[in-house]
Amino acid sequence: MDPQLALDGGCTCRAVRYRMTSAPLFVHCCHCTWCQRESGSAFALNALIESDRVVLLQGHVDVVDTPSNSGKGQRIARCPHCRIALWSNYAGSGDAIRFVRVGTLDEATRIKPDIHIYTSTKQPWLTLPAGTPAMQAYYDRKTYWPAQSLARRAAAVGG
Ligand SMILES: [Zn+2]
Ligand SMILES: [Zn+2]
Repeated sequence: MDPQLALDGGCTCRAVRYRMTSAPLFVHCCHCTWCQRESGSAFALNALIESDRVVLLQGHVDVVDTPSNSGKGQRIARCPHCRIALWSNYAGSGDAIRFVRVGTLDEATRIKPDIHIYTSTKQPWLTLPAGTPAMQAYYDRKTYWPAQSLARRAAAVGG
């Protein structure tokens, strides 16, 4: 992926528009049952990126505290009008890292999963591509992330 990649996105009613100002750190395709319920689909596709690289171009978001599998909750940023979820922050990486919902990007096809996680609850009809790591549950970031992304994350979260 081109590190200079900048992508715009937004909600369905177009009240909220945002820009990811660079390529993401890493892209999760999550097959956990929580993501299935929250998306109403088979998985969630999230681009992880530093929060300061997600810039609002128009409108504002409502942040909704939502239960999460970890028990620590996630804060989901939604359009105040159409309520589409645009990104969230999880307790693990705090406010520094946003999980951008890839489907809200105008050119979502530019982004593909770097890893499949929680495949133990993957829908049985879905065949994952060979060549992309697939984990039964979560994974060790240091093993799978590019060094540049680890450095960027460390700079964002402070260690
Ligand atoms: Zn909207
Ligand atoms: Zn999930």
